[in-house]
Amino acid sequence: MHSHIIPKKLPDWTEKFGYGKFIYLEPNRDGSADMMQGGKFFRRIQSDCWDESERITDYQKFNTQVQVVCTIPVLFSYWAKPADGLELSMFLNDHLSDLVARYPKNYIGLGTVPMQDTRLSILELERIKKNGLVGIQIGSNINDLNLSEEQFFPIFEACERLGLAVMIHPWNMMGFESMEKYWLPWLVGMPAETSRAACSLIFGGVLERLPKLRVCFSHAGGSFMSTIGRIEHGFNCRPDLVAIDNPINPRNYLGKFWVDCITHDIDALEYILKLQGSKKVCLGSDYPFPLGDLEIGKFIEDSQLPNETIEDIFCNSTLEWLQLDKKLFL
Ligand SMILES: [Zn+2]
Repeated sequence: MHSHIIPKKLPDWTEKFGYGKFIYLEPNRDGSADMMQGGKFFRRIQSDCWDESERITDYQKFNTQVQVVCTIPVLFSYWAKPADGLELSMFLNDHLSDLVARYPKNYIGLGTVPMQDTRLSILELERIKKNGLVGIQIGSNINDLNLSEEQFFPIFEACERLGLAVMIHPWNMMGFESMEKYWLPWLVGMPAETSRAACSLIFGGVLERLPKLRVCFSHAGGSFMSTIGRIEHGFNCRPDLVAIDNPINPRNYLGKFWVDCITHDIDALEYILKLQGSKKVCLGSDYPFPLGDLEIGKFIEDSQLPNETIEDIFCNSTLEWLQLDKKLFL
């Protein structure tokens, strides 16, 4: 689970909608493309961002058959007008539905919804469910609003009702402008963003009110796991600040959600396995981006972890998170 894909061609939404800094692609002669944001270079990407068969071949090198794919978070565009956000989401989701229909044994899709509009998000959830996607990927915050805001609750409620899984991905990182040097938004901001999302869903009582909602946090839960002691202590020593919407100890939620295994560190992974149990840790790659685990799962194969634990990480946890039967892929 946790890999990113986009269509080879994106519409020029900025021109079509007449405002904003929507992402568009500028192809290069060497086959790569530049992701552009309002005329400014964002990131150079290679054909493995969109070439379906190249990706399957790449994965085979690491004995991995199935990829859970979702868009690149910079495409969320939650700042757009709701109807435009819906159109963009539908475009990305239709691409994923078509992909999973053509490669049912290699691709599983997580859609995108316009979180800036609760009603339109729910409409799109119902549509993607019909079109063969099994969940959604959303940002760690929505235009700087935390996921505990009541306006998002009906979206989570609809995911629970429809049986759609939710993957939380860090983006729109806090402190971005003040720490651009040394890639700090990615190295410091992203783990903090994921912890922000986990704390918001716990303290806001979202996980408490929706016990069947299946949530997975990217990058092994970011800094949430390594600071759970501090978070719990804060809950105990200042309940007047922390426990105002949910009286349950945050530690009680460990093992009730999923995380991926992207730690690049076997000791950190073992600690997370201890907190979560092996059934709640999924094999993630963040393919095809350089911060990901591009030798997919190799550090786990090379470890001393028991075979059953490895088997859980490599497939059982993801199948359970997405409520899919292994037989579908044999
Ligand atoms: Zn990612």
